[in-house]
Amino acid sequence: LAERLQGTMKKIKGKGKVSEQDVKEMMREVRLALLEADVNFKVVKQFIKDVKERAVGQEVMESLTPGQQVVKVVNEELTQLMGGEQSKIAVAQKAPTVVMMVGLQGAGKTTTTGKLALHLRKKHNRKPLMAAADVYRPAAVQQLETLGKQLDMPVFSMGDQVSPVEIAEKAVERAKEEHNDYVLIDTAGRLHVDENLMDELENIKSAVKPDEVLLVVDAMTGQDAVNVAESFHERLGITGVVMTKLDGDTRGGAAISVKSVTGQPIKFAGTGEKTDALEPFHPERMASRILGMGDVLSLIEKAQTNVDEDKAKELERKMRSNDLTFDDFLDQLSQVKNMGPIDELLQMMPGANKMKGLKNMQVDDKQIAHIEAIVRSMTKAERDDPSLLNASRKRRIAKGSGRNIQEVNRLIKQFDEMKKMMKQMAGMQKGKKKGGFKM
Ligand code: GDP
Ligand code: MG
Repeated sequence: LAERLQGTMKKIKGKGKVSEQDVKEMMREVRLALLEADVNFKVVKQFIKDVKERAVGQEVMESLTPGQQVVKVVNEELTQLMGGEQSKIAVAQKAPTVVMMVGLQGAGKTTTTGKLALHLRKKHNRKPLMAAADVYRPAAVQQLETLGKQLDMPVFSMGDQVSPVEIAEKAVERAKEEHNDYVLIDTAGRLHVDENLMDELENIKSAVKPDEVLLVVDAMTGQDAVNVAESFHERLGITGVVMTKLDGDTRGGAAISVKSVTGQPIKFAGTGEKTDALEPFHPERMASRILGMGDVLSLIEKAQTNVDEDKAKELERKMRSNDLTFDDFLDQLSQVKNMGPIDELLQMMPGANKMKGLKNMQVDDKQIAHIEAIVRSMTKAERDDPSLLNASRKRRIAKGSGRNIQEVNRLIKQFDEMKKMMKQMAGMQKGKKKGGFKM
């Protein structure tokens, strides 16, 4: 999906003005890409319609190219499809907040129950009680108890000879006695949606009147996850979804459809087997992930607010002609510093995570001062043409700046990495230019 969309984006990014034909062409690609990613076809149809309406004839912001504007609309609409804002977990007026975890067998209910308990304690300073109401799966009760011990979190259980409804009711009572502000009820699943299961879940629901019915779905199952969500919602009325196994090599398409099909938002994402691998679900981040373009737009926005316009233009010219100098490098470093933590910035750059050298490049004030000292010890000629830097020149620079030779070497290496990255980004920029001429 990412590749296909990126290709299309590249094409459109170059356009000087967005015509209806451009949008049409782009939307055809986007449509295919979304279908390939397992997005429900009805959802795709509506999506394309919405984007077309918004994109055609739209005022193009001065700061963006028309192509970028369309990309932005696609991104925004995708985000909207997934609920727009990040959705929070319910909080009951009167404690405890009762959360019922439902879903098919193996989706990750039990694991997520533990993760959520930990999240509530760590991030919201809550005191959750977990309840073991899966009396069917062998050792399901023990699984939750073990998790409870591991997390030092209380677990309410009554073995597997008592009805799940009773367990759930008693768990809520216990929570009141013990002043637990959340009760997380781990329920049983089946391999497929089945009537008996639904009946039982309905019974639990009417007995404890949960504030939140969280459906746990496995992102790896693609379109099936969407069908499961639809069935569960029809019978049970879910209030939110946890999408697990997003750490795997999944096509994100299910995430897009779930919200549109059920009307209920994805609240959390499971990103691993460990107990801390649970994250609040951010629609805009998922949209970018699905688009496979990193958080390009926020990078652009960030850069625009922080980098001096003229300097940015000059840099762009240099990037394109690939004659970046050490002076630019120095300049760049202080600009980057103004933008915030470099790790964060790099994450937003497509392909940047592949550049290991850059990842290890810590930038703090002290280091910038050192780098500055080294660069200032270079002659003008050396700064403009780093290829002059042979061993004896490096030694002289090290001495002059009071830094050691390894540091000088490291800086030169980092500079090369940066140049490489610039070249890559310049490649993207070139794509833009080419298209521009077509108009
Ligand atoms: P349940 O039957 O719904 O209770 O599912 P479990 O909680 O027992 O989980 C089933 C399997 O999925 C276990 O091996 C979990 O470790 C795994 N699992 C759950 N959530 C995630 C996740 O977000 N990422 C990965 N990689 N594995 C997960
Ligand atoms: Mg389970």
